[in-house]
Amino acid sequence: MPTLIIKNLYAEVEGKEILKGVDLTINGGETHAIMGPNGTGKSTLASVIMGHPRYTVTKGTITLDGEDVLDMETDERARAGLFLAMQAPAEVPGVTNSDFIKTAMNARLNDDKKLSLFKFIRAYDKAVKELKMNEDLPHRYLNEGFSGGEKKRNEILQMKMLKPRIAILDEIDSGLDIDALKIVGENVTEMKNKNLGLLLITHYQRLLDYISAEHVHVMMQGRIVKSGSTELMKKIDEQGYDWIKEELGIDDERVIPEDEERIILGSCATREALEKE
Ligand code: ADP
Ligand code: MG
Repeated sequence: MPTLIIKNLYAEVEGKEILKGVDLTINGGETHAIMGPNGTGKSTLASVIMGHPRYTVTKGTITLDGEDVLDMETDERARAGLFLAMQAPAEVPGVTNSDFIKTAMNARLNDDKKLSLFKFIRAYDKAVKELKMNEDLPHRYLNEGFSGGEKKRNEILQMKMLKPRIAILDEIDSGLDIDALKIVGENVTEMKNKNLGLLLITHYQRLLDYISAEHVHVMMQGRIVKSGSTELMKKIDEQGYDWIKEELGIDDERVIPEDEERIILGSCATREALEKE
């Protein structure tokens, strides 16, 4: 059974501190949901777990079954069983969908083993059908010209094929209509087992109608500020996040780009001068 442990994690991007002490433990068989307002660092956390080179960890640890994840390259992390379904999957012209997944699956096998093409095709076709995707998909370039919903289903297709041990689904619900959400939800739910730990990142409670999560966390300003169960999710759905901010005394902080700051300062100075007159 896999265990991912994140302890006191701090990370920055382009010199800006985004994660400010994240603590989270995910065991196999568990489903966790992280909710939270826009721009609080949810996708940053996902990127840092996978080792996106743009993000620098300045403090804290991430381990998978006791192994130091931060010490691994992104491909090693993937081979160790970490998987991220991205909020905005990239288009890769020139690489077909099936080649991409085949390469990823082969990379996980020991040198002396080779993926059986027959088994691969059978499993791939089955997954395409279960996700109700177009059958021309294997031959199309990775995500190129895919609709938002098709890209999201394609991420789940990869998950079905790669069978990760810890899967992070970042806003898998965005861009999906209700029918697609239902299909994605059913497919993810079907994959649940004691050897898979799930982390769902979402804005909306709606996703959790389709994939149930026993552990619900709220992220604000780069930290998990509150954890609970389904009740917490329901309360957020009804009342938003303001009550949590009030309860914890969190002020809204808005990051003001430098030139905008100058304009604001400028207009204040003007106002001050006018008032003096
Ligand atoms: P969320 O997923 O919770 O909406 P993100 O993790 O995407 O939030 O972003 C958190 C903050 O980090 C935002 O202020 C965002 O602008 C900033 N940020 C994230 N990635 C980058 C990046 N690559 N370059 C600059 N700023 C970034
Ligand atoms: Mg995000």
